[in-house]
This record gives sequence, C-alpha cells and structure tokens, in this order.
Amino acid sequence: MARIAVIGAGMGAMAAAARLAVAGHRVVVYERTQTYGGALRRLVRDGFSFDTGPGLLPLPAVYRDLFLKTGKEPLEDCVELAQVDPSSRHVFADGTEVCLPNASRAGTVSALDEALGSGAGARWGDFLVRAREAWDRTRRPLLEEPLWPNWTVLAEREPYPAVPHKKLLRTRRARTLAEIAAWELRDPRLAALLESHALAYGLDPRTTPASAAVLPYMEHAFGTWYVRGGLRELARALYDRCLARGVEFVLGTEVTGIVEKDGRAAGVELADSSVAEADHVVAGVAPGVLDRLVSGTPAARGADDVAPRRGTPSRLTVLLALRGGRPEGTAHRTVVHTADREGELDRLFGEPAGLPPAPTVTVLRPDDPALVPDAGHEAVTLTVTAPSGLSASEADVDRILGAAERAIPGLGDRLLWREVRDPADVAEDTGAPGGAIPAPALAAAGGRLLQPSNSTRIPGLFTVGGWSHPGGGLPHAGMSGALVAGLIVEGPDFRGSR
Ligand SMILES: Cc1cc2nc3c(=O)[nH]c(=O)nc-3n(C[C@H](O)[C@H](O)[C@H](O)COP(=O)(O)OP(=O)(O)OC[C@H]3O[C@@H](n4cnc5c(N)ncnc54)[C@H](O)[C@@H]3O)c2cc1C
Repeated sequence: MARIAVIGAGMGAMAAAARLAVAGHRVVVYERTQTYGGALRRLVRDGFSFDTGPGLLPLPAVYRDLFLKTGKEPLEDCVELAQVDPSSRHVFADGTEVCLPNASRAGTVSALDEALGSGAGARWGDFLVRAREAWDRTRRPLLEEPLWPNWTVLAEREPYPAVPHKKLLRTRRARTLAEIAAWELRDPRLAALLESHALAYGLDPRTTPASAAVLPYMEHAFGTWYVRGGLRELARALYDRCLARGVEFVLGTEVTGIVEKDGRAAGVELADSSVAEADHVVAGVAPGVLDRLVSGTPAARGADDVAPRRGTPSRLTVLLALRGGRPEGTAHRTVVHTADREGELDRLFGEPAGLPPAPTVTVLRPDDPALVPDAGHEAVTLTVTAPSGLSASEADVDRILGAAERAIPGLGDRLLWREVRDPADVAEDTGAPGGAIPAPALAAAGGRLLQPSNSTRIPGLFTVGGWSHPGGGLPHAGMSGALVAGLIVEGPDFRGSR
C-alpha cells in the first residue's frame, strides 16, 4: 500500500483518488477551499438553486465506468441522469430557429432541412460522418491512453478527412473549423451551429483545427445529459464514493509546495508549514499553480513534454430567478447566436480581449423542481465565453440579458433578481489564474491544443484534471483520473484504459 497525496478536490483528482483507493492505496486529498468539486459548485438563494459550473454532461460513459470500477452501486443508483431532448435549440442571427433532437442523425437532418432549407440537413449529416472518422482516429490517443511519448505525431496529423475544395486552379482542404464551415457547410447558420461548439469550449473557430469536429460529433453520438438536482450532484456522488472507498479529505487546506527527496516527489507542504509525506503526489491544479508548487529544478515539465496552455478564456455566468413557471415544452438549452460573428471573435480572442458587444449566449432552462421554490418560478442560467481575468460591468450583463430575451420573450418583466459570476469567481472555485477554463485536448495545430502528459519529469509526481492530458471538460478530466491511476498502479508501461 502506497501513500498518495492528491492536490485539489476537482473532478479529475477525485476520479483518480477513488480508483487509487480501490487499488488498495492510502489516499489523502488536500483541498484549499471548504468544499469538494472544484468548478462544480451550486448557488442557493430564496429557494432557487443554480449550477455555477457546467450545466450539462457529455459522454456519461466515463462516469459510468468510474462508478462501476470503484464500487457496487452504478452511477444511475447514485444520481438521476436524464437525456436532454431536444439536445439544443438554436436561435440564429436572421431569426431562424431550429430544435435538434438528442442523438438522432435522421431527426437532426430533417430538422435542419425544415428550418434552413432542403440540403442543409444532408450537408450537416455528411459532416458528422467525417467527424466520426476524426473521432475514431483520435478516441484512444486523445481520451483513453496516456499521452504518447511521440505526441508530435498527433500534433502534425490532421485526423479530419476534409472534402477537397476547388477554388480557381487550387484544390484545398479545410484545416480549421471556420474553413469546414465556409467550404463544406456553406450556410451561415450551419456555420454558426458548428462554430458555437468551439466557442462553448473557449476556442476560436478561425484557428481551431478541423480535428475539433469531434466536439459536435461527441454530443451528437453520445447525447447530452443532465443530472437531476444539478451537476453539483455528480460531484457529491463522486465525493461520497471516495469516502466510501476510504479516501480522506482535508478541506480548507492549501498545498504550498511539493516536497522532493532524492530526486522524487516525497510529499506535500501545507499552508501551516507542516509536511505530509507520500510515495506519490497527484496534482489536479492549473499550470501556474503547479509552477509555484515545484520550485527549482527539475521543473515539473520536461522539454520533451507538451507545453502547458496559458491564457485560455473563462466564462461569465448570469443566474436568473424568474417569476412564472417554466412553460411546457421549453428546450433545456438554447443557443442565441451573435449577429456579429467577426466582431465577437475579434473581441474575445484579440488584444486587448474583452466581452463582445453582441455575445453568443447559452441559455439553460432545466425542467427540475429541485431548482425552484415552487412551480410558479423558474431558474435560468446564461453563459457566455469571456476572456480570463475579465471583470463584468453592468453594461456587459445588460447585453447578455438583451440577447437572452430572444430565447425568453418577456424576460425583463419576469426577473426577480440576478446574480453574476465572473472569471474571478471561477478563479476562486478552481484556483486557476484569471478563472481560465481548459478545453479538451485536440489533435493537429502543431500540438497547440494538446495538454501535457500525466507523468512529469519528477518521478512520483503526476498531474490530473483539465490542465493535463486529455484536457478539460467533465469526461476528459474524468478520464485523466483513470489514466493517472493506471500509471501509478501499473507503472509507466500502462497503455490505457480498456
Ligand atoms: C463556468 C464553467 C462552465 C463550464 N462548462 C463546461 C461545460 O459546459 N462542459 C464541460 O465539459 N466542462 C465545463 N467546464 C469545465 C469543467 O467543469 C472542468 O473541466 C472539470 O470540472 C474538471 O475540473 P478539474 O478536475 O480540472 O478541477 P477544477 O474544477 O479545476 O478544480 C481544481 C481544484 O483544485 C483546488 N486547488 C487548486 N490549487 C490548490 C492548492 N494549491 N492546494 C489545494 N487545492 C488546490 C481548487 O480549489 C479546486 O477545488 C466548465 C467550468 C466552469 C467553471
């Protein structure tokens, strides 16, 4: 039995902790805040309840596997999972609307044909077939296996089979999401639909490689899921599972350093200067935090590893308490698209970055009595991608509310109160500087969108969660827990989860 110190109680770290405890190790999690879950928090006020982190769960198989491998009760016995159907409603700039059914190709094709005109559905459907090829090519290396030592292969090879595009005498193939949108989808609304998937993860579609086609594919193929009571329930269930497996949590305790002895990680130093010795250390923190914890040489990351990603965007979330019940048939998620796509992307990803005048807004309206005081009220969450470090002004919030009116007519008259959560609040919950939120790892683009490996240059020190392979988002962070547990239990020859 080895002693394992885990830094942070985010989802990736808790996934690793539960698996390591089941493998017979003594696991202690040190968390700087007073609670578990990292980004998965809940705000409760006047009988209303809101998720302040992610509101939907893609790819639930990752958590099903985690609960299967760490105990007797399957995930569905610990939380109530509900498929979100329709998967999303889209309100485009020209006023066109479409509701896309959950995980149904035929349904999606016919909904798009009906809303956008004949042929639109087929173009999207054909795109999904190509996106599936990218998924099949990258699923193992970018989700289920530790980062390949020769990861440059992933960095250089574009897995998306783009359609040759002839212009004058040249034939080109889409290398970015924006090029797929322009050359293969050929409709500004389909383009907005595709690009909104990148934007939701804080990625600029103009520079995000075509390999990001896996993001809409994942949602299309595996559906979109909601956890009754809110996504925080998933964190609660995982925390309970960790406790049941004997994991110890030390909350309200910041780790201030990683102790090294004889060239390997030997424990953690805590804010009160005490030291907790360990045989392995698992860090579930952002790169800036890891740099501070590992002072001196060797640095945690070797020159042959992927360079950590910095400066990724955050989210701005507006929580709305509304009078009047949720109308029957309301879509759980509506995306209100911007009328100024270039302006939005220039503002978000340009210098200096700021909130766009007309942002794309995701509106979540869960059908869940647990979130409201009674049936005569509704809890709604608005989310926009925002530069990390942004502090929201009243005018910013008003612009977001203005866009949301297009999804919820009469919103202003129904508003009881609102709470704004900006990147500083995300930073408070996760410890990530500026409230930056990592995206899932993606192939191509010279490796710019990969995340560093779970093993580090310091023997005994591993990294987990969204800032290491295979990147951010609930499923990917959950998989990082499986990979780290595999690397510790089976050693460096571990080839990935089956
Ligand atoms: C507003 C918002 C919206 C999001 N939307 C989506 C979405 O739609 N889809 C999706 O898949 N994902 C989304 N995410 C991202 C997703 O929540 C995370 O990728 C996922 O939860 C994995 O988190 P993690 O394991 O990296 O840990 P984190 O959630 O980053 O938690 C890190 C933990 O480490 C602790 N910590 C940090 N430093 C120290 C230290 N020195 N000592 C002790 N403890 C420390 C922190 O307090 C925190 O608890 C969203 C996140 C936010 C904030």
